[in-house]
Amino acid sequence: AIRIDDLQMQYNKRIVLSVPGLEIPEGSITGIIGPSGAGKSTLLRIINRLESPTRGKVYLHEQDVWNQRSENMKLQRTMTMVFQKPTLLDKSVFQNVAIGLKARNVDKKILDEKVLSALKTVGLLELKDQKAKTLSGGEAQRVAFARAMVLDPEVLLLDEPTANLDPANVRLLEDYIRNMNQKKGVTVIMVTHNLFQAKRIASHVAFLYEGNLVEWGEASRFFDAPNKQQTKDFLEGRI
Ligand code: ATP
Ligand code: MG
Repeated sequence: AIRIDDLQMQYNKRIVLSVPGLEIPEGSITGIIGPSGAGKSTLLRIINRLESPTRGKVYLHEQDVWNQRSENMKLQRTMTMVFQKPTLLDKSVFQNVAIGLKARNVDKKILDEKVLSALKTVGLLELKDQKAKTLSGGEAQRVAFARAMVLDPEVLLLDEPTANLDPANVRLLEDYIRNMNQKKGVTVIMVTHNLFQAKRIASHVAFLYEGNLVEWGEASRFFDAPNKQQTKDFLEGRI
């Protein structure tokens, strides 16, 4: 599990995120929801160690992710993030998906197999030799997803992974996320603006509002019987 303790993030003295405590259960699909600017991406970046918080700790398997000991470094390789605005290299689709495996010196034959299978899953096998910069927005997003999934992460952090996709591809990706979660036990943390999507696939939900963690818990309880007025207002589109 991932446990967050007394976390706070400030930019230019402004507090943009404040999470007194949050637990992301192992094997869950945790949806992070909240209005634009609520701190969702910031939270993912801190969990993934891209930024260090002003205060507080993040634990993975009870180990502080900011502790640089070697066994920790190994743990951190097990987290992979797909960004809200993915950046692809000026190379082919295949090369973009292969990049993480190359960095790990994976055997060429295994690398080919994994990359081609991931491209097939996201429906982009035919575009494998196309230059990444010529892709449409939704295609680029699927390449970014494939790039993360070939690494077989233990924890997958997704920032609006389906924002640019058409309904059929949204479904395809949701099915795939569910599959990775159920068959491989991957813990998924997924930021989404789409409440229907959170209802469809999240087992747990955390709601951020103006940087504060307002409420979190099991998805069914969260949606059926929210505890906080702010949560009700958000779910009913009033804020
Ligand atoms: P969205 O749904 O629009 O993606 P979000 O919930 O992901 O929003 P964040 O990107 O986490 O929001 O940003 C939270 C707040 O922190 C925003 O007001 C943003 O402007 C601010 N912020 C984020 N990164 C920085 C930074 N590097 N410097 C200054 N302010 C920042
Ligand atoms: Mg964001």
